[in-house]
Amino acid sequence: MRKCGILCFNAYTLIRIDTCTHLVLKMTENKELILLIEDEPQMRRFLRITLQSQGYRLVEAATAQEGLLQAASRNPDVVLLDLSLPDIDGLEVTKRLREWAQTPIIVISAREQEQDKVKALDFGADDYLTKPFNANELLARIRVALRHSVRSRSGRSEPIFTLYNLRVDLAKRQVFLGDKEVHLTPIEYKLLITLIRHAGKVVTHNQLLKDVWGPAHVSEVQYLRVYMTQLRHKLEAEPARPRFLMNEPGVGYRLKYDPER
Ligand code: CA
Repeated sequence: MRKCGILCFNAYTLIRIDTCTHLVLKMTENKELILLIEDEPQMRRFLRITLQSQGYRLVEAATAQEGLLQAASRNPDVVLLDLSLPDIDGLEVTKRLREWAQTPIIVISAREQEQDKVKALDFGADDYLTKPFNANELLARIRVALRHSVRSRSGRSEPIFTLYNLRVDLAKRQVFLGDKEVHLTPIEYKLLITLIRHAGKVVTHNQLLKDVWGPAHVSEVQYLRVYMTQLRHKLEAEPARPRFLMNEPGVGYRLKYDPER
């Protein structure tokens, strides 16, 4: 970063870069490498400013071919992938990357179509953001993706999960709200821990049904509606306005969670 006190506006968000000191401090905190595969120069510029202000290292690719090449040669910690690319469709890129890489993939797309999001997630993407999105939301999703990849590399999972006043003892399979134990049915518990395993990330209807009920039940989306309602009634203070058991319409559900919150 060359200049101090820059105020950057664009169509997507506002980023304030206060002082050099602030920036240098931030830059030494994070050293993760992010690969950005995106053909729009404006979007690349916005993401460059956002990511570099947080100290992430960045490698950019304007085409899918170049992106795949950079993914193989640079071994990034996270891939940000646009779906509409000039040479190969982003969905195909997701599929090809997943043949050999476990790197978290966050799809960034202007496409509103739910089926594209679902397809990308089912092809192995970890999350998606629809353009235009907020810089803070993107940074939170990146933190979640990095946290998941560190955990899966180390092979450890934390035995106690906490969020607000919810506490889940994964070893003893017990759920508490504050000091009070909450009794969940086996299906409710399975649904909750599936969301906890993917905390912060969207889990598609397909994946939830497969993990909780089994592969024969992947079309029974109404099961999810019923059991999510039950879970919200047991765990959310205001079930009609959930704080963490979130619906992603047409796609799936997300346990809202930011590791740095
Ligand atoms: Ca594009």
